[in-house]
Amino acid sequence: MHLQLENKVVLITGGAKGIGAAIAYASAQEGAVPVVIDRDSEAGRKIEQELISRGVNGKWIEAELSDTESSRNAVEAVAEKYGRIDALVNNAGVNDRVGLEQGSPREYRLSLEKNLFHYFDMAHFCLPYLKKSRGAIVNIASKTAITGQGGTSGYASAKGAVLALTREWAAELLPYGIRVNAIVPAEVMTPLYQQWLSSFPDPEEKLKKILSKIPLDARMTEPAEIAGVAVFLLSGKAAHITGQHWFVDGGYVHLDRALT
Ligand code: NAP
Repeated sequence: MHLQLENKVVLITGGAKGIGAAIAYASAQEGAVPVVIDRDSEAGRKIEQELISRGVNGKWIEAELSDTESSRNAVEAVAEKYGRIDALVNNAGVNDRVGLEQGSPREYRLSLEKNLFHYFDMAHFCLPYLKKSRGAIVNIASKTAITGQGGTSGYASAKGAVLALTREWAAELLPYGIRVNAIVPAEVMTPLYQQWLSSFPDPEEKLKKILSKIPLDARMTEPAEIAGVAVFLLSGKAAHITGQHWFVDGGYVHLDRALT
């Protein structure tokens, strides 16, 4: 399938590692120009080098996205270098376990800064460019928005808002032909997931329990499987898809528990 993404400038927040990095590589494979916006300088430099060594005109920009000015500067730097922006993948986030009982009002607000506000900021700053290119946005959400997880009010509510914003922006941006969709992952092995897992007393046992609950093949979703859907949603092949929530989770959220 020809995805018609050649030379399209695709911004990926949190693209230095995990799901975002997989999206950067998948878009590069389709001939797009991935621009990774991430605060991890070691991983950022590494992915930029890797893209260049593959002959890709991609780039890493260092930014702490919870700082609005840093997001604005990153978008301006991309526009200055490439002269256009065709797509935004809002992906950076962290399951920071700010719970109702264990967290505090201050921590809750900080969690929204880490997981929600920069989705709006980035879409807002990219909008003038996306209008020109009739571009697309993909927002990465999380199953916790639908299922809850316990002890993570900030993250879960931010991801719920991400799903609502996906519909809201899809509606608002109809006149510009800008499509907005969300991907809802459940269990994907990434550095973030490994970190989360290692916070349990017996990570191996915890992982075994989780895998046994994933209906399709009792395995984790691969980052590349999320990336495949992301590049499809950004592409011309998805030209009539907007405002949708795509669950890429091996049936985790919707299938009958009795099947596992
Ligand atoms: P990851 O392995 O931690 O990679 C995310 C990258 O984004 C990291 O390099 C991280 O840097 C960076 N980042 C995070 N917050 C940032 C900020 N405020 N400013 C700049 N860079 C930032 O995470 P992942 O597992 O690939 O997750 C990607 C997205 O998928 C997240 O939104 C997550 O909520 C969602 N998701 C993941 C899963 C899963 O199973 N992995 C499931 C559901 C949803 P640091 O390392 O410095 O934090």
